Amino acid sequence: MDKLEFPIEGHSVCPNCGGAEKIGRAFIDELIADKKLPEGTFREGLAISIPFTQVLQSALAMPVPAFPVLQICFEICGNSECHTFYITKIILSQQDVQVQMKQQGPPGGLPGQRKMKPHFLTG
Ligand SMILES: [Zn+2]
Repeated sequence: MDKLEFPIEGHSVCPNCGGAEKIGRAFIDELIADKKLPEGTFREGLAISIPFTQVLQSALAMPVPAFPVLQICFEICGNSECHTFYITKIILSQQDVQVQMKQQGPPGGLPGQRKMKPHFLTG
């Protein structure tokens, strides 16, 4: 396998049935329409973030200022006969160590993914 280049584009529609309806997108859009979520949030839809904090324990035992975070964006097909779970995009970000420490403070901030700096700008 060649060296990975991010972002990795996944499926824009369901790879099983070809359906374009997305349960995650529809739910987020409903929350935004009801003003329960700010406009412009969850642009990439549903996602889970995997922080590779082990990078901090590098061979030199020196703290590094940021660690990689893999953001896996996914969807669930809105076709009730299908409901296939599929990947829409995989994004690599770098998260500052200091930002992570702030996030462990009192709750009330916006989701951490808003504070992550994209490693590669997609335009
Ligand atoms: Zn489908």
